[in-house]
Amino acid sequence: MMHGSDLVKRSCSFVMFFCMEDMKAMKEKIILVYEAIQRYNGFYKTMLRNTTFCAFCETFDHVDREMSIGRPTLEWMRYAPIESSVGDEDAIVMPLYRIEKKPSSTVISFGRDVPESYIALDRAGRPIVYNDRGYTYKRSLDGTLHVRHRHSSHHRRERRVLTVDEAKEVLERAYAHLEHVREHLMERREEVMRWTPDKLLYEEKLRFREVYAYPITILPPDAYFDVVLQATFGCTWNQCTFCSFYKDRTFAKRDAASFREHVRMVRAFLGDSLSLRKNVFLADGNVLALGEPLIPLLKTVRTFFPERRIASFLDLWSGYKKDRLWWKTLAELGLYRVSIGLESGSSNILRIFNKPGEPEEAIELIHDLKQAGLAVNVIFLVGAGGVPFREEHFRDSMRILSRLPLHANDIVYLSPLVHNSELAAVDPELTTLPDLDEELSRWFDSVKALGYKASLYDIREFLY
Ligand code: SF4
Repeated sequence: MMHGSDLVKRSCSFVMFFCMEDMKAMKEKIILVYEAIQRYNGFYKTMLRNTTFCAFCETFDHVDREMSIGRPTLEWMRYAPIESSVGDEDAIVMPLYRIEKKPSSTVISFGRDVPESYIALDRAGRPIVYNDRGYTYKRSLDGTLHVRHRHSSHHRRERRVLTVDEAKEVLERAYAHLEHVREHLMERREEVMRWTPDKLLYEEKLRFREVYAYPITILPPDAYFDVVLQATFGCTWNQCTFCSFYKDRTFAKRDAASFREHVRMVRAFLGDSLSLRKNVFLADGNVLALGEPLIPLLKTVRTFFPERRIASFLDLWSGYKKDRLWWKTLAELGLYRVSIGLESGSSNILRIFNKPGEPEEAIELIHDLKQAGLAVNVIFLVGAGGVPFREEHFRDSMRILSRLPLHANDIVYLSPLVHNSELAAVDPELTTLPDLDEELSRWFDSVKALGYKASLYDIREFLY
C-alpha cells in the first residue's frame, strides 16, 4: 500500500493508464470503490472535493487543489468511465470529465483524458462561459453571446457578437452536453436545467431591458463581475473623440425613488447569481460628478447590498473641483474604488482627443482620494497621438505617474487605443501606432519599474 500525496499522485497516473487500457475492469473497480466511499461517507464527506482517491492501491489522500487539477479527482472517477462507455471518437457529446460545485458557480468539464471543453454557470443556472475546444463563448446578461478565439494561423484574436441564429446554435450544443449529464448534477440539476436556449436568448433579453434603461457599455476590468447599478445615464461631457460608449444617450440622473426601484429590480434580476458578484459598480460615465444627490443613492446601495463595496468612474475635471472632505464622506458611505480616465500626462494629447482637464490636476486629486482611504485605478490610452506624440505621451505620463501616491491596491490600466467612427475627426497619423504591442510592453515595463501594479484594459474584452 502506498501513502502520501506524492505516492497517490503517482498511483493515480497509473489509474489513468489503467482506465484507457481496460475500461470495463476499471468501471467495476470504480463501482466497488464508490460503494466503499459511501460506507465511509460520514468520515470522508468533508474531504470529498479536494480528495484524490487511488483505485489501484485503494487509499485516499488529501491533496491541495492545484495538485488535483487535471488529475483524476473523486468526481472524475465516479463519472468518466460510465460516460466514456457511451461515447466514442465520433460522439457529438464528449464524456464527462468533472463537475465542480462551487459556492458561486457550477463548472462542468468534458473530455476523455483532459478537460477539452467546459461550461460555467452562475447559481441562477445561467451559462457564463462555454469553452469548446479553443472557442470561448461568453454570455452577457443582456442575452447576447460573444465569441473569443485566437486563430492559430495568424495569431489574431477574433472577438465578435454572435447573431441570434449563431447564438442559438451554440447554446443548443451546450445544452446537449448538459442534457447528457443531467443525472450527475444531482442537487444542482434543477438549477442548471431550468434554462433553455430560447429563454436565455429572448426572455432574458427583455428582462434585461426592463431593468437597465440603457445597455451597460463599459466598466473597468476589475468590475466585470460587479453588480452594476445605473445611477446616471451617459456622460456630462460626452465629447471625447476616442470614446463612443454613451453616444446613444444624453446625460440624465435617476432621482432617489427611481434609483431605489432600479436597485430592487437589479437584485431580483440577478437572483441567486448575486453570489458571483462581489461589489457594486455605479454606472454610467461619471456618476461621482453628482455631488449631494449622490448621498441618498449610496445609502440605498448600502440598504440593499450591505456587504458590498462600491466603485465608480471619476473624471478629472469634475473630481478636481471637489473638496477633499467630500471623498471621506463618500468613503464612509461605502465608496471604495474610483477609476480615473487620465488618458495621458500630456496636455497636448488631451486636447487632440477633446478631453477636458489638465493632467497635473490628477496629482492633487489622487492625493485627496488616497487620504480618504480610497483605492484608485488610473487609466492611460496607449497609442494616442500616434508616432508624432509617442515620446511626449510616454514621457509626460510616466512623469505624472511617478508623482502619484499609489499603493498596492491601486491599478494602472493601460488601454490600447481602439478605432471607432468618432476618431475619424482626428488626423489618422495621431491615432495609429504600427507597433502598438511593443509600445504596450514599454509602458508595462515602466509602470512596473515605478513599483505600481500594471494591467491591460482592452475595451474590446468588456462584457457585463
Ligand atoms: S471618456 Fe469619459 S469624459 Fe470622455 S466622453 Fe467618455 S465618458 Fe465622457
